[in-house]
Amino acid sequence: MRILLVEDDEMFGEATKAGLEQEAYAVDWATEIETAKAALTSYDYDIVLLDIGLPDGEGTSLLKELRGQRNGVPVVIMTARDALSDKITGLDTGADDYLVKPFDLDELYARIRAISRRKDRASIASGIVCGDLRLDPGSLKAWHNNLLIDLGPKEFRILQHLIEKVGKIVQKEKLQEMLYSWDHEIESNAIEVHMHRIRKKLGKDTIKTIRGVGYMIEEKRK
Ligand code: CA
Repeated sequence: MRILLVEDDEMFGEATKAGLEQEAYAVDWATEIETAKAALTSYDYDIVLLDIGLPDGEGTSLLKELRGQRNGVPVVIMTARDALSDKITGLDTGADDYLVKPFDLDELYARIRAISRRKDRASIASGIVCGDLRLDPGSLKAWHNNLLIDLGPKEFRILQHLIEKVGKIVQKEKLQEMLYSWDHEIESNAIEVHMHRIRKKLGKDTIKTIRGVGYMIEEKRK
């Protein structure tokens, strides 16, 4: 999952990005509306976390512009404690949710999970089930034939994405975009290395390689 964080506060932005990266989300951090706009035209984000007071304008004007372009990317507004009018304007402009600053990172994770559940009906509250696999995005834990398997956070996100797209080919580039932000150097074989580890833990037939294109989990597993 790739997240665009639009926040001009250095400390707050850094802490939020670091926290999200620990949960294996790829986070691009923009401190101005102009940078955010450029990012939104270059990448396909799963969620935008949007501050209101930004050096080159109001976050809500960016949101308005996005909705005007029929861009439905889920947006979570981040507002100060007492700025009730921001919340109302944000929701009226088409925000999906809002968080009151300062917020607990756990609350942010929960909101993100809720948004991805709404976005993708493959995820249900009790976890994601696909054949003999079960994933719990809340704890990043996975079970294969009811046995807990030890997946790293990035391995978990890859498997989760492939399950959510079961029966469809997922391009290698999409997985890279999902896992690594723009400030991250990616080894050209990074995804292959993750795949190798996942297959070692789940058996080599779990994920099919579509040569030169990407990967998929076949529908029959569902
Ligand atoms: Ca601000």
